[in-house]
Amino acid sequence: MTNELNKGAILILSGPSGCGKSSLLKKFYENFTNYYFSISTTTREPRTGEIHGTDYFFASKEEFEIDIQNDNFLEYAKVHNNYYGTSLKPITKALNEGKLVIFDIDVQGHELVRAKLDAITTSVFITTPTLSELENRLNKRDLDAKEIIQNRLKNAKIEIDSIDKYDYLILNDNLDEAARQFISVANVALIKTKLFNKARIIENWMKN
Ligand code: ADP
Ligand code: 5GP
Repeated sequence: MTNELNKGAILILSGPSGCGKSSLLKKFYENFTNYYFSISTTTREPRTGEIHGTDYFFASKEEFEIDIQNDNFLEYAKVHNNYYGTSLKPITKALNEGKLVIFDIDVQGHELVRAKLDAITTSVFITTPTLSELENRLNKRDLDAKEIIQNRLKNAKIEIDSIDKYDYLILNDNLDEAARQFISVANVALIKTKLFNKARIIENWMKN
């Protein structure tokens, strides 16, 4: 079937910091192979345990602004007072290889990618069942300072207003159940009709 596909597909995952996106992706990787996770570039400080080139490419504000000037980003946005951006080159390569390209990006990035690559994009918004549970998880994760957590909660209250712009919504209460839902979305993201080469499908269908 792959030769009837025009290219790969994009799956955008957004949701407030602390809702469980990384935990969910970990479970997803155990169940899915034909994917490429887009490693973003950011100007925020690495958290304890984060690895350059695995979690993010950590860059200075000056380096990031040079990349903006050179048109190296498919999209970028300022989130929680730091730059975050998706580099174009590796994405193009993975799409040409027919992969499902996963983006963990914010609501602004989602709108920018939709505007450019709507036909091949599927999106899912992930959140906790309640705001207080989000606060619990951010505190429990214990990776950010108090004022950073407050800033993330403030941002979450704004982000939640965008849920209706997404194709799917996952309320991450039970992690295993949420992971199953996310895997279902990943599977359907790869069979969107717009991903297929209609002429080739019909030609094959007629002659067999
Ligand atoms: P994100 O990547 O969205 O910032 P994380 O995956 O780091 O969020 O999760 C934040 C915290 O919440 C972590 O401590 C994680 O273990 C915990 N967590 C994730 N999903 C659940 C869940 N369904 N129930 C309880 N705790 C969860
Ligand atoms: P964190 O600092 O918790 O890793 O991420 C903060 C926010 O930035 C999250 O909402 C995450 O989805 C978003 N983000 C991460 N990478 C990108 C990116 O490349 N582009 C955009 N627009 N947002 C990103």
